[in-house]
Amino acid sequence: MSKEVLRLSAHNLREFDRCPRAFALQYKANRFWPAPDPVPSKHMELGQAFHRIVHQKFLGLNPLIENLNSPDLKALWQKYTLSPYSGSEEKSRVWSEQNLHVTLDGVGFLARFDRLVRNEGNWTILDWKTGKIDPVKLAGDWQTKLYPFILAEAGSVLNDGEEIEPSKIRMIYWEGSTGISHDRFSYDEGKHEVLRSEFEEKVRQVSKPFDEEKADDPNFPRNPKHCKKCGYDSLCNRLSSSNSDRPELPHPRFV
Ligand code: SF4
Repeated sequence: MSKEVLRLSAHNLREFDRCPRAFALQYKANRFWPAPDPVPSKHMELGQAFHRIVHQKFLGLNPLIENLNSPDLKALWQKYTLSPYSGSEEKSRVWSEQNLHVTLDGVGFLARFDRLVRNEGNWTILDWKTGKIDPVKLAGDWQTKLYPFILAEAGSVLNDGEEIEPSKIRMIYWEGSTGISHDRFSYDEGKHEVLRSEFEEKVRQVSKPFDEEKADDPNFPRNPKHCKKCGYDSLCNRLSSSNSDRPELPHPRFV
């Protein structure tokens, strides 16, 4: 994928951290082989269903909520209805499943906000997490960095053309399994500028040329820690002397 069309979400940035080569194979060389598992995990399905019904409720489609057939989804929904986020937000403007993006030096960064609330000039980013979360880990997660950054950079389109000051932004993760809100993610101008440098550095990293034939391309180094569970195993270990214990799969270019 060329630099001009590269678009990065928090998920993509985590993928880069996990293994730069896997990131480059997928997003720069468009290697989608082996195909991703078409059967989503139960946890993923639960998360998607929960996000969907919260959005439906936001749109006023209450009848669909009556048809919940999963006990886990029902339990999550009950916790949600008891949370401060299920009622109407007086004096607030609210957005649900809102996309925003910014472009830095030709590379796009994307955020999809589960919910955004503007109240008297203050902005709250709400994110629903259906599993257990570790707030300390989340403080350093790409999502916690990316979402406020994008809102400050691009949020004027939602704010009648006015820029949003970083200090007016806060982020809350709602943990569906416990019903707890984690609200320790403050934001300000200083953090915003530090993050700008961090994202600019990330742009430089992902924009470097990638040679997939070179298994040890220094621009996108391998991370052997994750090879055993990586769908690109055969694309790496065919080309390198360091093999994982997985049996080699036929490479698509050699079958
Ligand atoms: S097989 Fe290993 S080195 Fe290759 S992309 Fe996957 S995790 Fe990275």
